[in-house]
Amino acid sequence: MTMNNVGRPTAPVAANSATVSTFTGNLGLAIEEPLLFEVGRADVTGVDLEDIGAFEPRLGGLVRTVPVDLPGLTEPETMRHYVRLSRQNYAIDLGLYPLGSCTMKHNPRLNEAMARLPGFADVHPLQPLSTVSGAVELVAELGRWLLELTGMASVAMSPKAGAHGEMCGMATIKAAIADRGEARDVVLVPESAHGTNPATAAQLGFRVVGVPARADGTVDPEEVKKRLGPDVAAIMLTNPNTCGLFERNIIEIAEAVHAAGAYFYADGANFNAIVGKVRPGDLGVDAMHINLHKTFSTPHGGGGPGAGPVVLSDRLARYAPVPFVRFGQDGAAEFVETRKAAGERGLKPFGRITAFHGQMGMFVRALAYMLSHGADGLKQASEDAVLAANYVKASLKDVMTVAFPDRPAMHEVLFDDRFLEGTGVTTLDFAKAMIDEGYHPMTMYFPLVVHGALLIEPTESESKASLDQFIGTLRHLAEKAKSGDVAAFKAAPQLAPRRRVDETLAARQPKLAHQG
Ligand SMILES: *Cc1c(COP(=O)(O)O)cnc(C)c1O
Repeated sequence: MTMNNVGRPTAPVAANSATVSTFTGNLGLAIEEPLLFEVGRADVTGVDLEDIGAFEPRLGGLVRTVPVDLPGLTEPETMRHYVRLSRQNYAIDLGLYPLGSCTMKHNPRLNEAMARLPGFADVHPLQPLSTVSGAVELVAELGRWLLELTGMASVAMSPKAGAHGEMCGMATIKAAIADRGEARDVVLVPESAHGTNPATAAQLGFRVVGVPARADGTVDPEEVKKRLGPDVAAIMLTNPNTCGLFERNIIEIAEAVHAAGAYFYADGANFNAIVGKVRPGDLGVDAMHINLHKTFSTPHGGGGPGAGPVVLSDRLARYAPVPFVRFGQDGAAEFVETRKAAGERGLKPFGRITAFHGQMGMFVRALAYMLSHGADGLKQASEDAVLAANYVKASLKDVMTVAFPDRPAMHEVLFDDRFLEGTGVTTLDFAKAMIDEGYHPMTMYFPLVVHGALLIEPTESESKASLDQFIGTLRHLAEKAKSGDVAAFKAAPQLAPRRRVDETLAARQPKLAHQG
């Protein structure tokens, strides 16, 4: 044990501090935090509000009859509660976040500074166009970059997430098919697809038909062709796919899809691997969402606020949703708010999917990222992301099993659980052990095309030192699993604020407030 110059230990006495018990339940700086409802008192408030006196409510029969029952707390108590909770979170600003298919990349601080400029942060969606011309120009400029990078004809900026963009793009396809007077109701979805693809298709009333993966993890164009016919509306394909592999036969697939009268929807979640290298428009894509939080460094935030603009081919552009901003011949901007107004301009929007024009704060961040990197920097980010994933792959292939070893990985590398065979340790146990080592686990059990998937995406912004520490950790854990120390894995995590919660129960019956 290391001692300081007066003989006191410089590190915790017990390596496993979970076995140390304290009066408070706190462990050093890891503080146990109850719910606000458990500590709040009705007679406490953090603000000094004026007594509103007697008044006549205008709520008719809707007047509240019981107290709201919000917890009363002082301002310092409230601050501490949220800061303590934030310290129990893993975050991209704390360490490497290896989730595959999610691209948890660094959020540059420059973006944050730009997004907080009052001219962007304080605009209201109902302001007259003449008062927000700078903000409108920014959205148009971002759209221009997206079109340039994707080689597409048009962009719908309003969707609020990747999945929302899928909904938008597929609704556009549905409208185009209806406009052709056809009744195509089948959407082809490869087995390796993200769950949002079949969910989106089903939600729009399409029937989902699966396309099996080849042994090398990619989509077989022959399997696609077998399923194409007059009933097929579209294929939803991710490229690079969720196995981290570039779909080599993408053009052949696109041509077959078009020849059958169907559309090619590309899931753009993995665009981070190919920005500046490949333009989806050149591959025959008709619609693709772009998760600004995966490719253009905007924060992933608890389900929102997000932005998932959809780029569209010429064949689909006129069906894009309202509202949008349009630029006339003279460059002057106008809001097109309704289907009727769009119709008068010769367009046929499928409808509306958001109240307003999209997520301004995310637009500012994404454009700040693009401008600060430049076209060459964006391309290099993709190259570095691919390099980092292949470095992880090469460094671990002797102790873990790479699912598709013969193909170069793109920006993420997929392992399966063959390396754990016979150890009694599962992918889940392995992931839990990573938490004790201070890492958020990688994506587990997805994609479904391999057994016990461990999908790792380091991203371009990790240094070699950071990658080496991560690789060292996984190597250590893989060797520990093989050495027969199964009990340590089953007990993990031991050092986290919570151990293994019942995730199904927590998802199905979340307890977000105390029950009276
Ligand atoms: C993340 C992801 C989505 C959904 O995007 P969200 O922005 O999370 O709604 C869809 N497809 C793939 C492949 C993804 O990784």
